[in-house]
Amino acid sequence: MFSYRHAYHAGNHADVLKHFIQVQLHQYMNQKDTAYTYIDTHSGAGVYALDSAQASRSGEFEDGIARLWNRDDLPPALAEYVDVVRALNPSGKLRYYPGSPYVAEQVARPEDRLRLFELHPSDIKILVDNFRKLEAHQAEQGERARGRRVLIDYKDGFQGLKALLPPPSRRALVLIDPPYEVKLDYKHVRDALEEALKRFPGGMYAVWYPVLQRMESRQFADRLKRLPAKEWLHVTLTVATPGPDGTGLHSSGMFILNPPYTLEPTLRQVLPYLVQVLGQDGGATFRIERGTQVTGAMAAAGP
Ligand code: SAM
Repeated sequence: MFSYRHAYHAGNHADVLKHFIQVQLHQYMNQKDTAYTYIDTHSGAGVYALDSAQASRSGEFEDGIARLWNRDDLPPALAEYVDVVRALNPSGKLRYYPGSPYVAEQVARPEDRLRLFELHPSDIKILVDNFRKLEAHQAEQGERARGRRVLIDYKDGFQGLKALLPPPSRRALVLIDPPYEVKLDYKHVRDALEEALKRFPGGMYAVWYPVLQRMESRQFADRLKRLPAKEWLHVTLTVATPGPDGTGLHSSGMFILNPPYTLEPTLRQVLPYLVQVLGQDGGATFRIERGTQVTGAMAAAGP
């Protein structure tokens, strides 16, 4: 059950798409004074060493973050994400990659809360340890202790989410990012969102998923579109033509319920650039579509 380790995939093209969008979602949430709760149902280890045996064995980051690292023509919104990675690599050499909990820690404000769930017995320890080190470093730098800003739970994230909604401040950003190694994860995500929307219809929910040939993946976005959210935004990034054997991850998607109105124009600026820089062959492309519950209207666009 616990064969998935994100360390093999950290910083790949799918992480670039996910974490670039995560930064944008935090920045939108940061615009209002009221504090919010960030909930990460599937946190992973928080920070990844790209020279670890796992990351260097797969080398996936080479076709992801490494392709952006030395670019001097990044679109501004993408530069904001790369800056978060840079903050973790002050020497200028790309050695560490931030997972979603670290991205949240960096971009959310001191008054916002982070609620992190992880169920892998090794990754939960690494996650706790990474946050301990981070807090020690912040204390050394003379930063004020942030109290119980970050809570980490060794617990099923779908259950954890349910218990946290609605949040006290009535503002929440939720990231749902399971491994999808078991087909049931697709159903669990949909069910969790249905329940979450009942408890807290105004939350902002972001789901990452792999675009694969398997039926559950192909039907996934259509199922999410039928959830009773006021609005949704769906983006996919494909970096290569899938091979005939269907192995490897060439495409992934982010599905956002109640997205910020600013996100679609930002995606339209950044996705063509990502296709150009991360694309591996002529099959590289993107797709953006959105819809609203009120009109059922939908607009789709690719390059
Ligand atoms: N969100 C992370 C990031 O962007 O850096 C990556 C998460 S990784 C794709 C998925 C993680 O979910 C794995 O670390 C796995 O151990 C964990 N996991 C699997 N099932 C879980 C569950 N039911 N609840 C919480 N975590 C789970």
